[in-house]
Amino acid sequence: MRISTARIKIAKVKKLIVFDFDGTLVPTKSPVDRAMDKLLTELLARYKVAIIGGSSYEVLQDLLVSRLTAPKQLLGNLFLFPTTATAFYHYDKKWKKVYQHNLSLQERKLIKSTFTKVFKEIGYKHPRKIYGPVIEDRGSQVTFSVFGQDIVKVLGKQGVKIKDAWKAKHSNVKMQIAELMAKYLPNLEVRAAGHTSIDVTKKGIDKAYGLLEIVKRLKVGVADMLFVGDAIFPGGNDFAVVRTGVDYIPVKDPKETRRVINALLSRK
Ligand SMILES: [Mg+2]
Repeated sequence: MRISTARIKIAKVKKLIVFDFDGTLVPTKSPVDRAMDKLLTELLARYKVAIIGGSSYEVLQDLLVSRLTAPKQLLGNLFLFPTTATAFYHYDKKWKKVYQHNLSLQERKLIKSTFTKVFKEIGYKHPRKIYGPVIEDRGSQVTFSVFGQDIVKVLGKQGVKIKDAWKAKHSNVKMQIAELMAKYLPNLEVRAAGHTSIDVTKKGIDKAYGLLEIVKRLKVGVADMLFVGDAIFPGGNDFAVVRTGVDYIPVKDPKETRRVINALLSRK
C-alpha cells in the first residue's frame, strides 16, 4: 500500500527498509553525498537496509558502499541486491557474494545482436559522443545505455543534465527500442529501466522478484518491509513491487528520500 512520508510515524513499525538505488539514494550514476551518507549510517544503526538497483555490484560499491562512513559493524545490516536482485551480496567481515544468476553466454550474445538488429530496424543513431560501453554485459544482466555507461563518471553533473535532456525529449525512442526487444526476446525480460537505459535479464526478474528473494534470504516478511523508489508508477522499473503488497513510498529524487529517512529516524 502506498503510504505518505507524513504517515510514517503512525504506520506499522518496519524491520527492513528497501531502497531503489539510481535516482533514489543518489542522483543518476552519481556518488552518494555527505547528507545521505550520514542518514544511511543512522538508519543502519536502527534498521536492516536493502538496496535493489539495476546497477552492477561494482557500481553500488563505487558510488555508495565504499564512500559510506558507517562503522564496519553496521555494514552487517546492509544487503545489496544489484542488477535487479539477480545477485546478492552481504557483509560478514568483508563483502561476500551469496548468489548470482547469470545469463548463459548464448543468451548474452543473442541480446547484443538483437539490440543491433533493433537499432537498424528503427534507424536509431547513437549520439555522436559516447562515454564507455553502450551495451554492457553485467553477467546476469545486459544493459543498453544511450550515452554509454560512464557519461556521469566522465562529465559529472553535466552528464546528468545531458541524460535528463535526452530523457525528456526521446523517452518514446527508448520505449520503441524496449518494445521491439521484448518482441524479439520473448523468453527474456526487457525493461526500460533507469533514465536512459534498457536492461535485459532472465525471464521473471523484476523488483517484485527481488523483494521475494529478500523474504527468502533475510527471513523478513513483506509486511515488515518498506520500499522507497523513484519509479513506482506504471512503466517505471520500481512498479513491480506494488504487486507484492509491500508498503511503499514514491519519491522524486534523493532529496525526498532524505525526508523519508528523517521521518523514519524520528519515529522512535
Ligand atoms: Mg531509480
